[in-house]
Amino acid sequence: MSTMTLLRVVTATFLLVSLVVINSAAFAAPLGFIKQLEGGRRGQSIEGLRDVKQYLQKFGYYLNDDHKDTNANEATVHQNYDEFDELLEAAIKRYQLTHRIPVSGALDRATTTQMMIPRCGVSDHGLVIMTVDYGDQKKPNDYAFFPGKPKWNKNNLQYRFGITSSPPAGLEEPTIKAAVDKAFQSWKNVTEFTFDYVAGTFAPADLKISFFSRRHGDRSPFQGAKGATAHAFPPRYGELHYNADFKWSDDPSPTEMDLESIAVHEIGHTLGLLHSVNKAAIMYPYLNTGKIKRELQSADIEGIRKLYGLS
Ligand SMILES: [Zn+2]
Ligand SMILES: [Zn+2]
Repeated sequence: MSTMTLLRVVTATFLLVSLVVINSAAFAAPLGFIKQLEGGRRGQSIEGLRDVKQYLQKFGYYLNDDHKDTNANEATVHQNYDEFDELLEAAIKRYQLTHRIPVSGALDRATTTQMMIPRCGVSDHGLVIMTVDYGDQKKPNDYAFFPGKPKWNKNNLQYRFGITSSPPAGLEEPTIKAAVDKAFQSWKNVTEFTFDYVAGTFAPADLKISFFSRRHGDRSPFQGAKGATAHAFPPRYGELHYNADFKWSDDPSPTEMDLESIAVHEIGHTLGLLHSVNKAAIMYPYLNTGKIKRELQSADIEGIRKLYGLS
C-alpha cells in the first residue's frame, strides 16, 4: 500500500469516526454526559468528573465550614480534576439531602437521573444551607428568599423585551408575549402587583425579558442546549433570560420547553423568591422538556405573600 493510499484510508476512517461521534452527541439528552459517570464513588478517578464538580459548584453545593461563601474557591473544587475526592463526596451528599434522594455520597442512578433533568440556572445555595442546617430534624420551609430579602418597593412593574433579544428560529414575539402575559397574570392573582407591557426595545422598564445564547454579559453564561434553561435576577435587577439554545414552545413536544412554565418560575425570582425543595412548587428548580407546570402552588403563594407582608 503506497503512503498516499494509506493516508486516504486513515483520513476516511477519521472522518467516519468523527461523524459517528458528532451524531451521537447530537442525539444525546441534555446533560447526558453525567450518565456516563454513574456508579462513581470516592477514591475513583473518572474522566469527566470535573463536569459534575462544576455542576455542583455552580448550583451551590460546595460549602465552606461556616456556610457563608456561596462557592468554595475554584482551586479547591477543581483540585485533582477527575478524582472523586472528599469534597465531591460531601457536595453530593448535600445534593442528595436537598433533593430527598437517599444519601449515599456516590453518583448512583437516582442522583445522576436527577442531575440530567433540565433546570433553572439560579443557584440552590440558600436551599442547601437551609436543608443542611435543619438536617433530618425539621422540615425546611417550602419557600426561600434571596440573602437580605431584596424586594420591590412599588406595586406597578413595567416589562419589555430586551434589546439584544433574539428569539430562536420559528418562535414569534406574539407567542412569547402571550405566554409571558399569562405568567404575570398568575402572580398578579396572588399579590398586589400589576404588570404593564411597554413596547420598544429602549423603553425604560423594571423587568426585561430576553433570549440569549452562551456568554451574554452577566456572570452566568448559558452552555448551549444543556445546563440551565433560563435564569433571572433578584429585585431590583429585573433581568429574565431564556436560553436560546433550547427549543421553546407554548405547546411543547417532548423535546421542547414550555415558555409559560419557565416564565412563571423566573418571574418568581424577579419578585424575590428563591428555589423550593417542594417538587410540586413552581419554584422547584427542575423541569423536564415536554412538561407543563404553570399553576402557582401553596408553597409559592405563601412565600411571595410572606415576603411582601400580605396576610
Ligand atoms: Zn430558578
Ligand atoms: Zn443571563
